[in-house]
Amino acid sequence: MRALYPGSFDPLTLGHLDLIERSSRLFERLVVAVLQNPLKQPTFPLAQRLDQIRAATNHLPGVEVGSFDGLTVEFARSTGATVILRGLRALSDFEFELQIAHTNKSLDPAIETLFLATAVHHSFLSSSVVKEVARFGGDVSHMVPAGVAQDLQRLFNRPSPPG
Ligand code: ADP
Repeated sequence: MRALYPGSFDPLTLGHLDLIERSSRLFERLVVAVLQNPLKQPTFPLAQRLDQIRAATNHLPGVEVGSFDGLTVEFARSTGATVILRGLRALSDFEFELQIAHTNKSLDPAIETLFLATAVHHSFLSSSVVKEVARFGGDVSHMVPAGVAQDLQRLFNRPSPPG
């Protein structure tokens, strides 16, 4: 079975990566796809987000990385995915995610949305929290893959920590 994990990944966090690693064991093939949302002005350009995801997932054989715009169900169909994966961190995610899942189901009944509970130690993580911490010079090495930490440091122009 093939699955699609869509998101903004602006940037990829260890929470996202944990979900990718766990679901790559459940599916034959997993497509991680960055949604190009014209309503959102991203912090990291698309190409950089794709590089970040590729670098963090190149040890996972069944995982492919791509991007799309338009409807998620249409992109899922074009990749042969019958499952859309989303992560649930807390109750606050639920209402919005359920609405999207029902919308996608109404657009294509053949595609199921599957929710994975996030790892409890990553459940506080979001791309925006990570950017907030990095912007003020905080340590994000326990929140994001090493490559993303470097990109954040470069973006917010902080010198590397000693050692
Ligand atoms: P979107 O803008 O589509 O919500 P995100 O990149 O914020 O994109 O999130 C993509 C998916 O990853 C969503 O299903 C979200 O719930 C999930 N997610 C976000 N943060 C985490 C985390 N810390 N652990 C696991 N899943 C997460």
